[in-house]
Amino acid sequence: KRFNDYKLSEDIIRALEGLGYAQPTDVQNQVIPAALEKKDLTVKSKTGSGKTAAFGIPLCEMVEWEENKPQALILTPTRELALQVNEDITNIGRFKRIKATPLYGKESFSKQTAQLKQKTHVIVGTPGRVMDHIERGTLELERIRYLVIDEADEMLSMGFIEQVEKIVQKLPKSRVTLLFSATLPKDIEKLCHKIMKNPVNIEI
Ligand code: AMP
Repeated sequence: KRFNDYKLSEDIIRALEGLGYAQPTDVQNQVIPAALEKKDLTVKSKTGSGKTAAFGIPLCEMVEWEENKPQALILTPTRELALQVNEDITNIGRFKRIKATPLYGKESFSKQTAQLKQKTHVIVGTPGRVMDHIERGTLELERIRYLVIDEADEMLSMGFIEQVEKIVQKLPKSRVTLLFSATLPKDIEKLCHKIMKNPVNIEI
């Protein structure tokens, strides 16, 4: 398979060429078409498999540039991962001018709040700081149509799962949910059951 086999716009294909991604990885071949069909997905895959682009590519494709409120929320367990994912989304969405905003602890609220007042399509954040912004009313959720939970098993071992669930409860019901995890312990399966509709399970 080639990226051209998927219904991706010229802006996205051009960005992938710029990144030197010649062909999709296994996880990308499975996730991209299913996500473009707006299916909920549980994806068991490891770091290094190209999982960030597996959700980043369909996300950037589906986001509408004209919409002024955030459309996609990506939750990550750590600040480092939030920054990395934010950079990857920015790169994939470069020619579509997709704006991604990272939200994590230990950075001032005022800086993040100022960024949130600008147009932003994609929010990439750690659960604690995302919840703080929701509670302060500085992050609008009513237009969120895509939710990605990255490294869900890490979220679990760091004790973030209840917070993730609380955040998900505040999101619009009509949305696509993608969950990525290296392992799928019981508590993650339970979470999937609560927050997804007939998820497709992908195992790499
Ligand atoms: P990840 O699993 O998301 O951490 O990605 C691992 C590495 O693979 C990152 O450095 C990506 O930039 C790179 N990568 C992702 N997709 C592709 C692809 N289709 N072709 C080549 N490299 C890729």
